[in-house]
Amino acid sequence: MTLVVAVPPSKRPTSPRFGRVAAGTTKASLLKRAASPSKSASPKESPEASPKESLESKVPRRRIERQPVRLSADGRVDFPAYFVHGRKVDQRRFVAQAAITWLTVQKKRGACGAIMVDIDDTLIDGHQCVQNGFQFMQELYATAGLDYPIHVVTARPDSDHASAMRMLSQRGFCIPTDRLHMLPAHLWGKETSHVERFKWQTYLTIGRMHQGVVARFGDMLWDVAHVDTLHTTLKHVHDRDCYVFLDPALGDTLSCKLPGAE
Ligand SMILES: [Mg+2]
Repeated sequence: MTLVVAVPPSKRPTSPRFGRVAAGTTKASLLKRAASPSKSASPKESPEASPKESLESKVPRRRIERQPVRLSADGRVDFPAYFVHGRKVDQRRFVAQAAITWLTVQKKRGACGAIMVDIDDTLIDGHQCVQNGFQFMQELYATAGLDYPIHVVTARPDSDHASAMRMLSQRGFCIPTDRLHMLPAHLWGKETSHVERFKWQTYLTIGRMHQGVVARFGDMLWDVAHVDTLHTTLKHVHDRDCYVFLDPALGDTLSCKLPGAE
């Protein structure tokens, strides 16, 4: 079944990435459009093409060359689901930009709910740094936080709550104390089934608190998928995969699995 974003013409949003959302725009097409470099992007929207570039080129700065990603539909499931192919930095950029578009459209539609996001290999890399594409997730975090409450859910032990709060703050991720959810310390380091249940139960709790969850982000399938699909419907999705999907069993939650660590 194709899901259609029903937005009245007068209320169709204008996105800095996509422009006005056309009638009949599907949720799947929003994801596909984000995968292609915009041919109509203005210089302001595309800093790489800006005339200012020649003037600023003399100023040394580190910039990530942009390469397009490729989407391939997952034919093994009966809901919209796409593998995102490309470099990890571009996968993260795609996920962040597509998610901002998705969240903007949902806000215009009057959707309510929260956002659930993992920490490690989602907001920061293995060195706890925001680089190599994680800066796009940082932008997503800041942008989404203007419209939605954000809950950070991590499998780090809750005995590290204070240090995790400090680490997030130092990297620009502002989070109220009660919105950082951590695995009970007595379960840390044990079977991954504990993490799966913790992530799922926390997702349900957040949904009850905010009348839904608009989007989930994480590098592991358990961060974003229905707990019943982890070892069944979606068992073909690997840790290294970048995978974006809309499982009706999750309501209107957009699930964004970022590429896992090697
Ligand atoms: Mg993680």
